[in-house]
Amino acid sequence: MAGKKTEYTDTELKNQKCEVEGCSQPARYQWNCCADSNIWRRLCSDHDLELNVQLMTFMKVKGWKAKLKRYAAIVKRDRW
Ligand SMILES: [Zn+2]
Repeated sequence: MAGKKTEYTDTELKNQKCEVEGCSQPARYQWNCCADSNIWRRLCSDHDLELNVQLMTFMKVKGWKAKLKRYAAIVKRDRW
């Protein structure tokens, strides 16, 4: 697990793996977290979706199920 201080480009993401422990899928998305020094971490499509589910349910966002369903469809189409 490495991460980066600046955002990854699409080209950089395409050539690397997801940073979730034990995952070997190709990276597709990225995120950063204040408590993690805002280091950009690479995520595969499945883990990006899982992170979104966790955050939306934690935040108790109104309409989260419908929003996640729409987002899941976008993620499914957006794979490379
Ligand atoms: Zn992953």
